[in-house]
Amino acid sequence: MNEDTGSDQNCKGCSANVRISPEEIAALFNPNLRIKAVKVVTEAEYADRIDACLACPALQYGTTCMHCGCLVHLKAKLRVSKCPFPYAPRWEKLASLSV
Ligand code: SF4
Repeated sequence: MNEDTGSDQNCKGCSANVRISPEEIAALFNPNLRIKAVKVVTEAEYADRIDACLACPALQYGTTCMHCGCLVHLKAKLRVSKCPFPYAPRWEKLASLSV
């Protein structure tokens, strides 16, 4: 993880940095990793989820969902992830997710 500990980039609840680079995300979801049980979304689905998050009033620091505390750039990669926005989850209406 990034070692930059500037105060505007730290989680309110701990000292962890809330920023994660695209390179760090790519390393975490590298298909060569032996973690086969983790299902990820397509690039189009990921982009749509991130766009929804970036337009969401619940996004803090440009990285963190205030409803679940997750780093959205990681959460959005996981197929099983759900948007926790109350009463109207913002990922459910995305075009890329309709089957
Ligand atoms: S409520 Fe949903 S759309 Fe909003 S930041 Fe959280 S995960 Fe993203």
